[in-house]
Amino acid sequence: MFIEPLIGNNHPKSQKGHIEVICGSMFSGKTEELIRRLNRALIAKQRVEIFKPAVDTRYHTYNVVSHNENEIRSTPVNFADDIMLLAGDCDVIGIDEVQFFDQQIVSVANKLASLGKRVILAGLDMDFEGQPFEPMPQLLAIAEYVTKVHAICMKCGDLASYSFRLSGEKRKVMLGEKDAYEARCRKCFYEEKK
Ligand SMILES: [Zn+2]
Repeated sequence: MFIEPLIGNNHPKSQKGHIEVICGSMFSGKTEELIRRLNRALIAKQRVEIFKPAVDTRYHTYNVVSHNENEIRSTPVNFADDIMLLAGDCDVIGIDEVQFFDQQIVSVANKLASLGKRVILAGLDMDFEGQPFEPMPQLLAIAEYVTKVHAICMKCGDLASYSFRLSGEKRKVMLGEKDAYEARCRKCFYEEKK
C-alpha cells in the first residue's frame, strides 16, 4: 500500500512547499496517519503545528505528544483564514478535520504551500450519504500527494470507504457521536441506505 509520498526535498530550507491530503471514512485512521507524519518531522527538529476547526474540540481535547516529549501544539481556529495568521513560524502545518472548515481553506492551503511550507490536510472525503464532503474535493484537486486510507466494514470485514449513520438524523454535521456511525464497504453501505 502507498503510505506516504516520496518527497524529493522537503527540507524546510529548500523553500519548496507542497500539499498532502489524507482522506477516508470515519475509523480509517486519518488522524493517526497525520500525527505519524508530523511526529517524524518533529524528530527532525522541524517546526510543526496542528490546526483544527474550533467546532471539533470535543474529539481532540488532547495535545499530541511525540517520542521525544516535545509537544505538537493543537490549535483550534474558527475560520480557515486564521491559520494564515498563526502558521507563520511553522515548517510543517497539519490541519485535521478539514471537512468542517469553510471554503477558504482551499486558498489558505495553496498560499501556505507557495510560501514553502509542507501542508498536510486530513479529513472525511464523503458525508454520511456517500456524497463528496466539501471542501475536500477541491483540496484533493490542488494537492500534490493524496493518500486514501480505509476502515474495516463492520458488517462484512472488507475494506470500508463509507461512514454509515445508524440513526435517521439528516443533518450533515452531527458532532460528538462517534457511536452513531459505522464504517461500511460500498455494498453494505448502499444495501442498508435504501
Ligand atoms: Zn461490507
